Amino acid sequence: MVGAPGAGKGTQAEIISHRLGVPHIASGDLFRAAVNDGSPLGREVKRYMERGALVPDELTIRVISERLNAPDAVDGAILDGFPRTRAQAEALDKMLSQRGAAVAAAIYVEVGLDELMRRLSGRWVCRGAEHVYHEVFRPPRRPGVCDFDGSELYQRPDDRLETVRARLERQLPPMYEVVDHYTDRGVILPVRGDGTIEQVTEDVMRQIAQPARRG
Ligand code: ADP
Ligand code: AMP
Repeated sequence: MVGAPGAGKGTQAEIISHRLGVPHIASGDLFRAAVNDGSPLGREVKRYMERGALVPDELTIRVISERLNAPDAVDGAILDGFPRTRAQAEALDKMLSQRGAAVAAAIYVEVGLDELMRRLSGRWVCRGAEHVYHEVFRPPRRPGVCDFDGSELYQRPDDRLETVRARLERQLPPMYEVVDHYTDRGVILPVRGDGTIEQVTEDVMRQIAQPARRG
């Protein structure tokens, strides 16, 4: 899943991974877990994340490659937030081709800037498993508590306005290169991300059914 910060990648990846029965692998979630553990990886990535910068490619590729080697990912995965640069996309192609696999679809969730700001400023996530909420568009049943695991909800420090601006400024140009990369390979599937969560899911499901029909 490719898209700007706040486009709804994580929200959709969570739903679609359940529908397809494959794991949801989010690079941002892996990095936040490392930061929370206080591991050497966490200490290394924290300084990039808090500035809204991308974590260096080499490190990011290593973390994702290890995760993709886990047994639950043998039949595929929904990758959310990775790849975010052309070098990451090329590394992923290589990783997959070594197993006789390839990226089946790059779902590109497109959302306008004003809506991204509304989504990021109202986002709350749970401490237990990073379930995603929005104070207006996807409120939890009980304020401040996750519907699924009862854990506390918090606002990500990088969703503060100055960091959001830095993330968009630094991360959108390389994201467009990733979009170009998958466009050139004929696997880009653009979806309108500005509908309701349910509308976007249905659009994604329709789009991913199409290559299978063509094939
Ligand atoms: P990303 O993973 O792309 O950064 P998220 O999935 O975390 O984005 O979504 C960002 C915020 O927008 C969250 O608060 C989420 O609840 C909300 N959101 C996601 N999709 C929609 C949608 N289609 N309409 C309204 N709000 C949405
Ligand atoms: P996210 O949860 O996807 O918004 O990611 C949070 C932060 O983690 C980003 O702002 C980056 O600092 C870092 N990050 C996540 N995924 C990547 C990636 N593929 N490449 C580099 N940095 C990443």
